[in-house]
Amino acid sequence: MAFRSIRDLALEGRRVFVRVDFNVPLDGGRITDDTRIRAALPTITYALQHGATVILASHLGRPKGKPKPEFSLKPIAEHLATLLGRPVAFAPDCIGPEAEATVAANPGGVILLENLRFHPEEEANDPAFAQALASLADVYVNDAFGSAHRAHASTEGIVHHVKESAAGFLMAAEVEYLGKALHDPDRPFVAILGGAKVSDKLEVIENLLDKVDALIIGGAMAYTFFKAQGQPVGRSLVEDDLVDKARELQERAKARGITFELPVDHVVAPKLDPKAPTETLDVGDARIGDRMGLDIGPKTVARDADIIGRAKTVVWNGPMGVFEMDAFAKGTMGIARAVANVHGTTIIGGGDSVAAVTKAGVAEEMTHISTGGGASLEFLGGRTLPGVAALDK
Ligand code: AMP
Repeated sequence: MAFRSIRDLALEGRRVFVRVDFNVPLDGGRITDDTRIRAALPTITYALQHGATVILASHLGRPKGKPKPEFSLKPIAEHLATLLGRPVAFAPDCIGPEAEATVAANPGGVILLENLRFHPEEEANDPAFAQALASLADVYVNDAFGSAHRAHASTEGIVHHVKESAAGFLMAAEVEYLGKALHDPDRPFVAILGGAKVSDKLEVIENLLDKVDALIIGGAMAYTFFKAQGQPVGRSLVEDDLVDKARELQERAKARGITFELPVDHVVAPKLDPKAPTETLDVGDARIGDRMGLDIGPKTVARDADIIGRAKTVVWNGPMGVFEMDAFAKGTMGIARAVANVHGTTIIGGGDSVAAVTKAGVAEEMTHISTGGGASLEFLGGRTLPGVAALDK
Protein backbone atom coordinates (compact mmCIF):
# COMPACT_ATOMS: atom_id res chain seq x y z
CA MET A 1 0.00 0.00 0.00
CA ALA A 2 1.64 3.22 -1.14
CA PHE A 3 0.17 6.34 0.28
CA ARG A 4 1.40 9.75 1.23
CA SER A 5 2.23 10.57 4.77
CA ILE A 6 1.34 13.83 6.45
CA ARG A 7 5.10 14.46 6.26
CA ASP A 8 4.75 14.77 2.47
CA LEU A 9 2.23 17.63 2.69
CA ALA A 10 2.97 21.34 2.71
CA LEU A 11 1.09 22.48 5.81
CA GLU A 12 2.22 26.04 6.49
CA GLY A 13 -0.77 28.39 6.47
CA ARG A 14 -3.12 25.68 5.23
CA ARG A 15 -6.31 24.26 6.72
CA VAL A 16 -5.95 20.52 7.35
CA PHE A 17 -9.03 18.38 7.80
CA VAL A 18 -7.97 15.50 10.04
CA ARG A 19 -10.37 12.55 10.38
CA VAL A 20 -9.65 11.15 13.83
CA ASP A 21 -11.24 8.34 15.80
CA PHE A 22 -12.45 9.99 19.00
CA ASN A 23 -15.14 7.34 19.51
CA VAL A 24 -14.22 6.96 23.18
CA PRO A 25 -16.28 5.35 25.95
CA LEU A 26 -18.27 7.96 27.88
CA ASP A 27 -20.03 7.63 31.19
CA GLY A 28 -22.49 10.53 31.53
CA GLY A 29 -20.19 12.94 29.68
CA ARG A 30 -17.05 11.70 31.48
CA ILE A 31 -14.39 10.03 29.29
CA THR A 32 -13.56 6.66 30.85
CA ASP A 33 -10.68 5.78 28.48
CA ASP A 34 -8.89 8.43 26.42
CA THR A 35 -6.48 6.07 24.59
CA ARG A 36 -7.92 6.99 21.19
CA ILE A 37 -7.58 10.72 21.83
CA ARG A 38 -3.96 10.33 22.96
CA ALA A 39 -3.26 8.16 19.91
CA ALA A 40 -4.09 11.12 17.62
CA LEU A 41 -1.84 13.61 19.42
CA PRO A 42 1.31 13.05 17.31
CA THR A 43 -0.54 13.95 14.10
CA ILE A 44 -2.28 16.96 15.64
CA THR A 45 0.92 18.28 17.20
CA TYR A 46 2.90 17.77 14.00
CA ALA A 47 0.34 19.70 11.95
CA LEU A 48 0.30 22.57 14.45
CA GLN A 49 4.08 22.75 14.61
CA HIS A 50 4.13 23.00 10.83
CA GLY A 51 1.83 26.00 10.80
CA ALA A 52 -1.48 24.39 9.90
CA THR A 53 -4.99 25.15 11.08
CA VAL A 54 -6.17 21.77 12.36
CA ILE A 55 -9.81 20.84 11.80
CA LEU A 56 -10.65 17.61 13.62
CA ALA A 57 -13.66 15.46 12.77
CA SER A 58 -14.89 12.21 14.32
CA HIS A 59 -17.97 10.15 14.99
CA LEU A 60 -19.04 9.17 18.49
CA GLY A 61 -21.44 6.35 19.24
CA ARG A 62 -24.50 5.68 17.14
CA PRO A 63 -26.70 8.79 17.07
CA LYS A 64 -28.39 7.40 13.92
CA GLY A 65 -28.20 10.56 11.81
CA LYS A 66 -29.73 12.99 14.32
CA PRO A 67 -28.20 15.44 16.79
CA LYS A 68 -28.32 13.81 20.23
CA PRO A 69 -26.71 15.65 23.16
CA GLU A 70 -25.40 12.44 24.75
CA PHE A 71 -23.25 11.86 21.66
CA SER A 72 -21.85 15.38 21.48
CA LEU A 73 -18.08 15.70 21.07
CA LYS A 74 -18.03 18.82 23.28
CA PRO A 75 -16.58 17.02 26.34
CA ILE A 76 -13.85 15.67 24.08
CA ALA A 77 -12.90 19.19 22.94
CA GLU A 78 -12.39 20.12 26.59
CA HIS A 79 -10.30 17.04 27.32
CA LEU A 80 -8.22 17.51 24.17
CA ALA A 81 -7.50 21.11 25.18
CA THR A 82 -6.08 19.80 28.47
CA LEU A 83 -3.95 17.18 26.69
CA LEU A 84 -2.62 19.70 24.14
CA GLY A 85 -2.22 22.53 26.64
CA ARG A 86 -3.93 24.95 24.26
CA PRO A 87 -7.49 25.96 23.45
CA VAL A 88 -9.66 23.80 21.19
CA ALA A 89 -12.51 25.64 19.47
CA PHE A 90 -15.67 23.58 19.23
CA ALA A 91 -17.94 23.92 16.18
CA PRO A 92 -21.53 22.95 17.01
CA ASP A 93 -22.01 21.42 13.56
CA CYS A 94 -19.56 19.63 11.28
CA ILE A 95 -20.66 21.43 8.08
CA GLY A 96 -22.33 24.72 7.17
CA PRO A 97 -22.00 28.32 8.36
CA GLU A 98 -21.23 27.52 12.02
CA ALA A 99 -18.40 25.17 11.09
CA GLU A 100 -17.07 27.65 8.52
CA ALA A 101 -17.18 30.54 11.00
CA THR A 102 -15.38 28.55 13.70
CA VAL A 103 -12.62 27.58 11.27
CA ALA A 104 -12.29 31.18 10.00
CA ALA A 105 -12.03 32.54 13.54
CA ASN A 106 -9.17 30.22 14.54
CA PRO A 107 -6.30 30.40 12.04
CA GLY A 108 -3.35 28.33 13.22
CA GLY A 109 -5.51 26.79 15.94
CA VAL A 110 -7.36 23.58 16.66
CA ILE A 111 -11.04 23.18 15.84
CA LEU A 112 -13.09 20.12 16.74
CA LEU A 113 -16.25 19.65 14.69
CA GLU A 114 -19.42 18.20 16.18
CA ASN A 115 -20.21 14.49 15.65
CA LEU A 116 -20.17 13.58 11.95
CA ARG A 117 -22.94 11.05 12.49
CA PHE A 118 -25.43 13.74 13.49
CA HIS A 119 -25.93 13.79 9.70
CA PRO A 120 -27.23 10.60 8.03
CA GLU A 121 -25.20 11.60 4.94
CA GLU A 122 -21.97 10.66 6.75
CA GLU A 123 -22.65 6.92 6.83
CA ALA A 124 -24.43 7.09 3.45
CA ASN A 125 -21.21 8.51 1.95
CA ASP A 126 -23.25 11.27 0.36
CA PRO A 127 -21.17 13.21 -2.20
CA ALA A 128 -22.68 16.64 -1.37
CA PHE A 129 -21.95 16.09 2.33
CA ALA A 130 -18.41 14.93 1.55
CA GLN A 131 -17.99 18.08 -0.56
CA ALA A 132 -19.27 20.24 2.32
CA LEU A 133 -16.71 18.67 4.67
CA ALA A 134 -13.95 19.08 2.10
CA SER A 135 -14.83 22.76 1.56
CA LEU A 136 -13.70 23.53 5.12
CA ALA A 137 -10.10 22.63 4.34
CA ASP A 138 -7.23 22.72 1.88
CA VAL A 139 -5.87 19.22 2.52
CA TYR A 140 -7.16 15.98 4.06
CA VAL A 141 -5.43 13.66 6.50
CA ASN A 142 -6.94 10.39 7.69
CA ASP A 143 -5.72 9.24 11.10
CA ALA A 144 -8.78 7.14 11.95
CA PHE A 145 -7.68 3.59 11.28
CA GLY A 146 -10.49 2.37 13.54
CA SER A 147 -13.03 3.77 11.04
CA ALA A 148 -11.16 2.84 7.87
CA HIS A 149 -13.21 -0.32 7.27
CA ARG A 150 -16.25 1.85 6.52
CA ALA A 151 -16.71 3.81 3.28
CA HIS A 152 -18.21 6.91 4.87
CA ALA A 153 -18.16 10.53 3.68
CA SER A 154 -15.36 11.49 6.09
CA THR A 155 -13.24 8.39 5.45
CA GLU A 156 -13.74 7.80 1.72
CA GLY A 157 -15.99 10.32 -0.06
CA ILE A 158 -14.05 13.39 1.04
CA VAL A 159 -10.89 12.18 -0.70
CA HIS A 160 -12.57 12.82 -4.05
CA HIS A 161 -13.17 16.48 -3.20
CA VAL A 162 -9.74 17.55 -1.94
CA LYS A 163 -6.58 18.18 -3.94
CA GLU A 164 -4.29 16.36 -1.56
CA SER A 165 -4.78 13.61 0.98
CA ALA A 166 -2.45 11.65 3.22
CA ALA A 167 -2.28 9.29 6.18
CA GLY A 168 -1.65 10.54 9.70
CA PHE A 169 0.97 8.87 11.91
CA LEU A 170 -1.46 6.49 13.62
CA MET A 171 -2.99 5.32 10.36
CA ALA A 172 0.45 4.85 8.83
CA ALA A 173 1.68 2.85 11.83
CA GLU A 174 -1.37 0.57 11.81
CA VAL A 175 -1.08 -0.19 8.11
CA GLU A 176 2.68 -0.60 8.33
CA TYR A 177 2.66 -3.06 11.26
CA LEU A 178 -0.35 -5.09 10.17
CA GLY A 179 0.76 -4.99 6.53
CA LYS A 180 4.25 -6.21 7.36
CA ALA A 181 2.84 -9.05 9.46
CA LEU A 182 0.61 -10.15 6.60
CA HIS A 183 2.97 -9.71 3.68
CA ASP A 184 6.53 -9.91 4.93
CA PRO A 185 6.64 -11.21 8.51
CA ASP A 186 9.82 -12.09 10.34
CA ARG A 187 9.45 -15.81 11.04
CA PRO A 188 8.32 -17.78 12.89
CA PHE A 189 5.03 -15.89 12.64
CA VAL A 190 2.55 -16.94 15.34
CA ALA A 191 -1.08 -15.80 15.45
CA ILE A 192 -3.11 -16.15 18.64
CA LEU A 193 -6.86 -15.94 18.26
CA GLY A 194 -9.40 -16.08 21.05
CA GLY A 195 -12.59 -14.43 22.15
CA ALA A 196 -16.20 -15.41 22.09
CA LYS A 197 -17.10 -16.21 18.52
CA VAL A 198 -15.54 -18.18 15.67
CA SER A 199 -17.89 -16.39 13.29
CA ASP A 200 -16.20 -13.03 14.01
CA LYS A 201 -12.77 -14.42 13.19
CA LEU A 202 -13.48 -16.97 10.49
CA GLU A 203 -12.14 -14.76 7.74
CA VAL A 204 -9.03 -14.00 9.78
CA ILE A 205 -8.35 -17.69 10.41
CA GLU A 206 -8.81 -18.48 6.71
CA ASN A 207 -6.52 -15.67 5.59
CA LEU A 208 -3.86 -16.41 8.20
CA LEU A 209 -3.70 -20.13 7.43
CA ASP A 210 -1.69 -19.24 4.32
CA LYS A 211 0.65 -16.92 6.14
CA VAL A 212 1.48 -18.10 9.66
CA ASP A 213 3.83 -20.76 10.96
CA ALA A 214 1.59 -21.41 13.96
CA LEU A 215 -2.00 -20.62 14.87
CA ILE A 216 -3.00 -20.81 18.52
CA ILE A 217 -6.71 -20.90 19.28
CA GLY A 218 -8.16 -20.17 22.72
CA GLY A 219 -11.23 -18.67 24.33
CA ALA A 220 -14.77 -19.82 23.70
CA MET A 221 -13.87 -20.15 20.02
CA ALA A 222 -12.00 -23.38 20.77
CA TYR A 223 -15.21 -25.22 21.71
CA THR A 224 -16.62 -25.16 18.20
CA PHE A 225 -13.41 -26.94 17.11
CA PHE A 226 -13.68 -29.42 20.03
CA LYS A 227 -17.25 -30.20 19.09
CA ALA A 228 -16.07 -30.87 15.53
CA GLN A 229 -13.60 -33.40 16.98
CA GLY A 230 -16.32 -35.06 19.03
CA GLN A 231 -14.83 -33.94 22.36
CA PRO A 232 -17.14 -33.36 25.33
CA VAL A 233 -17.82 -29.61 25.63
CA GLY A 234 -20.57 -29.50 28.28
CA ARG A 235 -22.37 -26.18 28.11
CA SER A 236 -19.40 -24.26 26.74
CA LEU A 237 -20.15 -21.71 24.00
CA VAL A 238 -20.38 -23.51 20.67
CA GLU A 239 -21.51 -22.15 17.32
CA ASP A 240 -23.27 -25.24 16.01
CA ASP A 241 -23.64 -23.88 12.49
CA LEU A 242 -19.85 -23.55 12.23
CA VAL A 243 -18.85 -27.02 13.44
CA ASP A 244 -18.30 -28.30 9.89
CA LYS A 245 -16.38 -25.19 8.95
CA ALA A 246 -14.18 -25.60 12.05
CA ARG A 247 -13.37 -29.18 11.01
CA GLU A 248 -12.51 -28.02 7.50
CA LEU A 249 -10.22 -25.26 8.80
CA GLN A 250 -8.35 -27.66 11.04
CA GLU A 251 -7.90 -30.06 8.14
CA ARG A 252 -6.60 -27.26 5.95
CA ALA A 253 -4.10 -26.25 8.63
CA LYS A 254 -2.93 -29.86 8.79
CA ALA A 255 -2.62 -30.08 5.00
CA ARG A 256 -0.52 -26.91 5.00
CA GLY A 257 1.73 -28.36 7.67
CA ILE A 258 1.40 -25.41 10.03
CA THR A 259 1.22 -25.76 13.79
CA PHE A 260 -2.44 -25.50 14.78
CA GLU A 261 -2.97 -25.70 18.52
CA LEU A 262 -6.17 -25.93 20.51
CA PRO A 263 -6.15 -25.96 24.33
CA VAL A 264 -5.16 -29.24 26.02
CA ASP A 265 -6.64 -28.33 29.40
CA HIS A 266 -9.18 -25.84 30.65
CA VAL A 267 -10.84 -24.32 33.70
CA VAL A 268 -14.46 -25.39 33.98
CA ALA A 269 -17.27 -24.08 36.18
CA PRO A 270 -21.00 -24.73 36.48
CA LYS A 271 -21.78 -21.16 35.46
CA LEU A 272 -20.29 -17.87 34.40
CA ASP A 273 -19.92 -16.49 37.90
CA PRO A 274 -16.76 -15.23 39.63
CA LYS A 275 -17.69 -17.21 42.77
CA ALA A 276 -18.57 -20.49 41.02
CA PRO A 277 -16.43 -23.49 42.07
CA THR A 278 -13.82 -24.20 39.39
CA GLU A 279 -11.93 -27.30 38.34
CA THR A 280 -9.08 -27.71 35.87
CA LEU A 281 -9.54 -30.68 33.55
CA ASP A 282 -7.81 -32.03 30.48
CA VAL A 283 -9.74 -31.39 27.29
CA GLY A 284 -11.59 -34.60 26.49
CA ASP A 285 -12.26 -35.43 30.15
CA ALA A 286 -15.95 -36.31 30.31
CA ARG A 287 -16.14 -35.04 33.89
CA ILE A 288 -16.87 -31.62 32.39
CA GLY A 289 -20.49 -32.89 32.55
CA ASP A 290 -22.76 -29.96 31.93
CA ARG A 291 -20.22 -27.38 33.07
CA MET A 292 -18.65 -24.69 30.86
CA GLY A 293 -15.04 -24.17 29.84
CA LEU A 294 -14.14 -20.59 30.76
CA ASP A 295 -10.34 -20.36 30.57
CA ILE A 296 -7.37 -22.26 29.18
CA GLY A 297 -5.46 -24.31 31.75
CA PRO A 298 -1.80 -24.22 32.90
CA LYS A 299 -0.60 -27.00 30.56
CA THR A 300 -1.97 -25.06 27.61
CA VAL A 301 -0.33 -21.83 28.79
CA ALA A 302 3.03 -23.61 29.14
CA ARG A 303 2.81 -25.21 25.71
CA ASP A 304 1.64 -21.97 24.04
CA ALA A 305 4.31 -19.93 25.83
CA ASP A 306 6.90 -22.26 24.34
CA ILE A 307 5.60 -21.70 20.79
CA ILE A 308 5.22 -17.96 21.36
CA GLY A 309 8.71 -17.74 22.88
CA ARG A 310 10.27 -18.83 19.59
CA ALA A 311 8.25 -16.35 17.47
CA LYS A 312 9.68 -13.33 15.68
CA THR A 313 6.22 -11.95 14.84
CA VAL A 314 3.11 -12.34 16.99
CA VAL A 315 -0.39 -11.12 16.23
CA TRP A 316 -2.89 -11.53 19.06
CA ASN A 317 -6.61 -10.89 18.86
CA GLY A 318 -9.13 -12.08 21.45
CA PRO A 319 -8.73 -13.27 25.06
CA MET A 320 -8.12 -16.90 26.06
CA GLY A 321 -10.95 -16.95 28.59
CA VAL A 322 -13.36 -14.77 30.52
CA PHE A 323 -10.45 -12.59 31.66
CA GLU A 324 -12.82 -9.96 33.06
CA MET A 325 -13.27 -12.30 36.07
CA ASP A 326 -10.12 -13.13 38.03
CA ALA A 327 -11.17 -16.78 38.37
CA PHE A 328 -10.93 -17.15 34.58
CA ALA A 329 -8.14 -14.67 33.80
CA LYS A 330 -4.99 -16.73 34.46
CA GLY A 331 -4.78 -18.16 30.94
CA THR A 332 -5.07 -14.78 29.25
CA MET A 333 -2.58 -13.23 31.71
CA GLY A 334 -0.13 -16.07 31.07
CA ILE A 335 -0.36 -15.58 27.31
CA ALA A 336 0.02 -11.80 27.75
CA ARG A 337 3.28 -12.36 29.66
CA ALA A 338 4.53 -14.81 27.04
CA VAL A 339 3.83 -12.30 24.27
CA ALA A 340 5.54 -9.55 26.30
CA ASN A 341 8.72 -11.68 26.43
CA VAL A 342 8.94 -12.14 22.66
CA HIS A 343 12.12 -10.87 20.98
CA GLY A 344 10.40 -9.63 17.87
CA THR A 345 7.33 -7.75 16.70
CA THR A 346 4.19 -8.09 18.80
CA ILE A 347 0.90 -6.68 17.58
CA ILE A 348 -2.19 -6.60 19.77
CA GLY A 349 -5.57 -5.94 18.17
CA GLY A 350 -9.12 -5.78 19.40
CA GLY A 351 -10.46 -3.98 22.44
CA ASP A 352 -10.51 -7.05 24.69
CA SER A 353 -6.93 -8.12 24.00
CA VAL A 354 -5.81 -4.55 24.59
CA ALA A 355 -7.68 -4.53 27.91
CA ALA A 356 -6.05 -7.89 28.73
CA VAL A 357 -2.47 -6.74 28.13
CA THR A 358 -3.23 -3.61 30.11
CA LYS A 359 -4.62 -5.72 32.96
CA ALA A 360 -1.48 -7.90 32.82
CA GLY A 361 0.63 -4.72 33.08
CA VAL A 362 2.56 -5.50 29.89
CA ALA A 363 1.03 -3.02 27.40
CA GLU A 364 4.33 -1.10 27.29
CA GLU A 365 6.21 -4.22 26.19
CA MET A 366 4.19 -4.61 22.99
CA THR A 367 5.48 -3.30 19.66
CA HIS A 368 2.10 -2.10 18.50
CA ILE A 369 -1.32 -1.89 20.06
CA SER A 370 -4.00 -1.46 17.44
CA THR A 371 -6.73 1.05 18.23
CA GLY A 372 -9.12 -0.32 15.63
CA GLY A 373 -10.75 -3.60 16.63
CA GLY A 374 -13.08 -4.19 13.68
CA ALA A 375 -10.71 -2.54 11.23
CA SER A 376 -7.72 -4.62 12.29
CA LEU A 377 -9.78 -7.82 12.04
CA GLU A 378 -10.90 -6.93 8.52
CA PHE A 379 -7.31 -6.04 7.58
CA LEU A 380 -6.03 -9.37 8.95
CA GLY A 381 -8.89 -11.08 7.16
CA GLY A 382 -7.35 -9.86 3.91
CA ARG A 383 -9.96 -7.24 3.09
CA THR A 384 -9.19 -3.92 1.48
CA LEU A 385 -10.26 -1.16 3.86
CA PRO A 386 -12.06 1.61 1.94
CA GLY A 387 -10.50 4.35 4.09
CA VAL A 388 -7.02 3.00 3.38
CA ALA A 389 -7.67 2.31 -0.29
CA ALA A 390 -8.94 5.89 -0.74
CA LEU A 391 -5.54 7.22 0.31
CA ASP A 392 -3.74 4.96 -2.15
CA LYS A 393 -2.97 7.27 -5.04
P1 AMP B 1 -14.43 -11.18 21.25
O1 AMP B 1 -15.16 -9.87 21.29
O2 AMP B 1 -14.97 -12.15 20.28
O3 AMP B 1 -12.93 -10.99 21.16
O4 AMP B 1 -14.73 -11.88 22.64
C1 AMP B 1 -14.28 -11.38 23.85
C2 AMP B 1 -15.08 -11.99 24.95
O5 AMP B 1 -14.97 -13.39 24.90
C3 AMP B 1 -14.62 -11.58 26.32
O6 AMP B 1 -15.60 -10.77 26.89
C4 AMP B 1 -14.46 -12.90 27.07
O7 AMP B 1 -15.05 -12.86 28.35
C5 AMP B 1 -15.21 -13.87 26.19
N1 AMP B 1 -14.72 -15.25 26.34
C6 AMP B 1 -13.46 -15.69 26.16
N2 AMP B 1 -13.38 -17.00 26.42
C7 AMP B 1 -14.61 -17.42 26.79
C8 AMP B 1 -15.16 -18.67 27.17
N3 AMP B 1 -14.40 -19.78 27.25
N4 AMP B 1 -16.48 -18.71 27.45
C9 AMP B 1 -17.23 -17.60 27.37
N5 AMP B 1 -16.78 -16.39 27.01
C10 AMP B 1 -15.48 -16.30 26.72
